[in-house]
Amino acid sequence: SKKAESKVPDKLIVGTNAEFPPFEYMNDKKQPEGFDIAMIKEIGKRMGKKVEIKNMEFKSLIGAMESDSINAIIAGMTKTEKREKAVDFSDSYYTTNQAIILKKDSKITKLAQLDGKKIGVQEGTTGDLISSGDKFGDGKKAKVLVKGAKVKRFKKGVDAVMDLKNGSVDAVVIDELTANEFVKKNAKKLKIVIDSAGSEYYCIALTKGNTAYKEEVNKQIKAIKEDGTYDKLKAKYIDS
Ligand code: GLN
Repeated sequence: SKKAESKVPDKLIVGTNAEFPPFEYMNDKKQPEGFDIAMIKEIGKRMGKKVEIKNMEFKSLIGAMESDSINAIIAGMTKTEKREKAVDFSDSYYTTNQAIILKKDSKITKLAQLDGKKIGVQEGTTGDLISSGDKFGDGKKAKVLVKGAKVKRFKKGVDAVMDLKNGSVDAVVIDELTANEFVKKNAKKLKIVIDSAGSEYYCIALTKGNTAYKEEVNKQIKAIKEDGTYDKLKAKYIDS
């Protein structure tokens, strides 16, 4: 593969998938909004660069970066060894877990109990990988958590939740905070179980091999955390 230039780009061209509240969603004005969007705009502002947001399917994000149509991804994207072959990851800006969304009366309490069950996921996510029986986790600690499940893949997590309500799937495996947002709207019918499969670290994906760019983004993430801006954004989008 070609060697990237080590240079901060003139503009941040950022891919996201605005179907993942509270990190990114479409607001009333049909514009992407959320914690991630606020973070990347703040990073761009501090770097003195314009920020353009491109909304696309989650599973298309890495490919868009490889073909240089974007130079950053902020999408609640978990740093994984496989993705790291195609992109560089910034320092982590958020740590979370997978959640299992279930009908209220379900007896399931662990991912391992989803063996052989029908699971709804958002295509290309860590929830998809785990449900599909891929090894999950870092290095030697990576292991298969769910075996022999029938995985139904959706472009939007919210549609997987619809199928759970209809009874077409037995569970939805998705990141914890987004699960909370979806279940809030269906609190009478659904519940959440957290099986800590291992922490997931959300990072900004950046053009592979561009060290100057990654260092600059990391510097801004650090500054945003240190001066209280991070906590303000967290209070506004996540803890509210
Ligand atoms: N954190 C998960 C992943 O990286 C889900 C992200 C998402 O659906 N936006 O695959």
